[in-house]
Amino acid sequence: MNSKVLVISGDGIGPEITRETQKVLDVVNKKFDLGLEFDEALLGGAALDATGVPLPDITLEKARASDAILFGAIGGPKWDDVDRQLRPEKGLLQIRSSLQLFGNLRPAILYPQLADASSLKPEVVSGLDILIVRELTGGIYFGEPRGIRTLENGEREGYNTYKYNETEIKRIGKVAFEAAQKRGGKLCSVDKSNVLEATVLWREIMEQMAPDYPDVELTHMYVDNAAMQLVRAPKQFDVIVTGNMFGDILSDAAAMLTGSIGMLPSASLDLNGRGMYEPCHGSAPDIAGENKANPLAMILSAAMMLRYSLGSPEAANAIETAVGHVLDQGLRTEDIYSEGTQKVGTIAMGDAVANALQAH
Ligand code: NAD
Repeated sequence: MNSKVLVISGDGIGPEITRETQKVLDVVNKKFDLGLEFDEALLGGAALDATGVPLPDITLEKARASDAILFGAIGGPKWDDVDRQLRPEKGLLQIRSSLQLFGNLRPAILYPQLADASSLKPEVVSGLDILIVRELTGGIYFGEPRGIRTLENGEREGYNTYKYNETEIKRIGKVAFEAAQKRGGKLCSVDKSNVLEATVLWREIMEQMAPDYPDVELTHMYVDNAAMQLVRAPKQFDVIVTGNMFGDILSDAAAMLTGSIGMLPSASLDLNGRGMYEPCHGSAPDIAGENKANPLAMILSAAMMLRYSLGSPEAANAIETAVGHVLDQGLRTEDIYSEGTQKVGTIAMGDAVANALQAH
């Protein structure tokens, strides 16, 4: 059966990087006979302008009917003054929660050709390829009770609740174990079980699940040590799984090991492996419409979509290899440009990846 992909280009540089990604997908669709069918929908500022809301019902309907969603970026200064409930970002949060996308996959990949872009020494990060699996809809960011209360002595106190139930831990564990099976077979679960009971249970459940995945080697690490190890020797990691708050912090730190936001893809998955795939960056209004945006984060997001939701790892590998070829050729958009390489625009970068795919 053909797979349905909903493409949401969004605002700012969104439509520009989406056009290039579509070119690349059209090539793999033919080359690997994937039978992908594409549809489009509005979200964010573009949706607000056209329909009066940032997430129109029809977008949600189409999203529910699709096997995967490929998304550019939303937002921009044009909508800074609209009501909070109607902000473009609200549409994005609504679609994520409506589709129950609890599993956030954020790879931090450093192509050896870009090792100079990292703040760490090239030999520490060259060839880095980590996947952080972050629980996205639970933990302390959502736990109740929460708030700011006034104590009997008149002093105010802020409080939040860190909790995870077994179901929540098992479903993110499943995403992480399965991701490790598709990669290097190593899974490091990050917690703070020396202090937090919620993560004692987290560790226990991960241990319980491990025998079901004999091809995955499970280890555990306290979050403070994980932060240290990420900047000391990041290449020791393959897949990291952790809760919402630790994942928020560690995935940003890992992303920065790679030096460029224009290269980083992400995925958010539901229980059935259906997902929304998007670059980690925003709509970059400062360069929108100038043919300067790096389309590679979105192109690499499309590769993740093929691997994790559409069951086409060969096509995913082919896209990632094509990106490597283009970097080998010395082509760079402005954000990853360095002396001795060739500066190109968004369109030329998309064309180069599509051509490399055709050629190899
Ligand atoms: P941003 O990621 O859009 O931009 C930060 C900086 O990185 C800018 O200088 C931008 O030019 C550069 N940049 C980002 N992506 C790039 C790319 N592909 N190629 C080259 N350079 C790139 O973050 P921001 O400036 O904080 O936010 C701008 C808008 O995007 C805001 O409206 C914000 O709400 C929205 N936003 C959307 C998402 C999303 O759609 N998922 C995420 C973050 C921010």
